[in-house]
Amino acid sequence: MAEIKFNARVLQKIDVTADLMIMRIVPDGWEIPQFKAGQFAVLGLPGSSPRHPSCDTEETPADPAKLIRRAYSIASSPEEREYIEFYIMKVSSGALTPRLWNLKPGDPLWIGPKFTGMFTLDEVPGDANIVLMATGTGLAPYMSMLRSFLLHESSRRIAALHGARHSWDLGYRSELQTLNRLFANFNYFPVLDEPEKEAMPWTGHTGFVQELWSNHVIAEHWGFEPTPDNTHIFLCGNPLMIKAAVSLLEGRGFKEHTKKTPGEIHLEKFW
Ligand SMILES: Cc1cc2nc3c(=O)[nH]c(=O)nc-3n(C[C@H](O)[C@H](O)[C@H](O)COP(=O)(O)OP(=O)(O)OC[C@H]3O[C@@H](n4cnc5c(N)ncnc54)[C@H](O)[C@@H]3O)c2cc1C
Repeated sequence: MAEIKFNARVLQKIDVTADLMIMRIVPDGWEIPQFKAGQFAVLGLPGSSPRHPSCDTEETPADPAKLIRRAYSIASSPEEREYIEFYIMKVSSGALTPRLWNLKPGDPLWIGPKFTGMFTLDEVPGDANIVLMATGTGLAPYMSMLRSFLLHESSRRIAALHGARHSWDLGYRSELQTLNRLFANFNYFPVLDEPEKEAMPWTGHTGFVQELWSNHVIAEHWGFEPTPDNTHIFLCGNPLMIKAAVSLLEGRGFKEHTKKTPGEIHLEKFW
């Protein structure tokens, strides 16, 4: 078995909650490759890397010599050349995230040297309005899009819809609130599905994130209904949300976008 060569280091870890973190990493001795907002990288650690004590013990211990690799959407802007940022959810029974949780700033890890993915704005017409819908860490690729050119480049309307269980799970909330205040063409809609657990009464949107669509919340803010002729929609995160949202949107005439058959719905399923 070839020796695993680490090629990056942890720069910073920001705990959003005990189960959600923002992790910044730096390549060790090489440049951050060019990439497009919305793309992903592959992170890896060997089976010999220890798991965080808060996580489950593995039923079958991982092969210590094998690299465990998983895809992660990049949350930083392609223009950010000092570090690469990720927004990661801990899966306590998982193979890689319990090991990522155990890393400290300065610790080495592996990152695939090429960043890739089709979940980008490349095939969205320049004048189309954009709805970015996510659950949990599905927000990551949108942070990269919003932090790069998207908000500066035009007057088209852009809405970010972020579903989470609790308000404390709304990573990047203050940054998104600031963008909401600064850019007249941007609206941020956080949505909680367990608002009854909040310490302070939650006065924002509740339910599942895709319900904002059925409730015409975007139309209320934009002053017109998003339709396939004027809007492209991005869906990222939990496959159940994506399935429910696609069925809702198809009922309104939107079509899934593929290379062969252009449409207005763009998908990234995390599992
Ligand atoms: C293109 C792509 C981009 C991705 N980007 C991100 C990202 O930005 N942030 C991120 O946290 N994950 C992301 N993922 C998921 C990530 O690749 C791993 O699957 C996840 O971190 C679990 O890895 P693990 O080895 O700990 O768990 P595994 O042993 O692989 O267990 C997988 C199981 O964990 C659950 N799971 C996986 N991902 C999540 C999640 N995000 N939230 C809740 N439950 C989950 C599912 O039940 C899944 O079946 C992405 C996946 C893909 C395909």
